[in-house]
Amino acid sequence: MQGVERLMEGYRAFLENRYVQESSVYRRLESEGQTPRIMIVACCDSRVDPATIFSAGPGELFVLRNVANLVPPWEPHGDYHGTSAALEFAVTGLEVEHIVVMGHGQCGGIGAFLEGLHSDGSPRGFIGKWMSLLNAARGHALRTASESSPAELQRAVEEEGIRQSLENLKTFPFITERVADGRLQLHGAWFAIATGQLTALDPASNAFVKVVVEGGIPGA
Ligand SMILES: [Zn+2]
Repeated sequence: MQGVERLMEGYRAFLENRYVQESSVYRRLESEGQTPRIMIVACCDSRVDPATIFSAGPGELFVLRNVANLVPPWEPHGDYHGTSAALEFAVTGLEVEHIVVMGHGQCGGIGAFLEGLHSDGSPRGFIGKWMSLLNAARGHALRTASESSPAELQRAVEEEGIRQSLENLKTFPFITERVADGRLQLHGAWFAIATGQLTALDPASNAFVKVVVEGGIPGA
């Protein structure tokens, strides 16, 4: 089933199942408004839906998705800053207590960036400019993983990009202020599509470590 028919079928299933189970939650969320405590910055990639991965219901996660889950630095000038606007609303309006930057394996945006497909001046000028946020991460990965395979290099850039985005978050005054007084915590995570393995950035070691849950991963 393709296209809009797929959406209609999914909507029907939603009304028959999930909406029936959670209709009171939806009604409460409309009357009381949303109060999510967690914001997630994730990739647009159709395989890495945060609500699915974290089994989240309506109203629980404030999700921002963009190409390669990148956060730009604070740049208060007249351009159109969709990502920064979402951060501003989540932090100053909703007052979320956590921001999680979640990357993932096999990121097509990062893969194309590493192959040089989105260099400035290409017809894909929007992506080229956006992906240039990863220039420093690529340089760091090339210095520290110079002997590695293309797959290992991509993984290194996926992880370094998360660290870079976390650093860029700290350039927003309304974020640094809240991190400093304990109202806001920043986290990094990375998701492996095929295995379902989640890793989390350990602040002490600055390394990504496997998230182990009770029962483990089926088949692992
Ligand atoms: Zn991606």
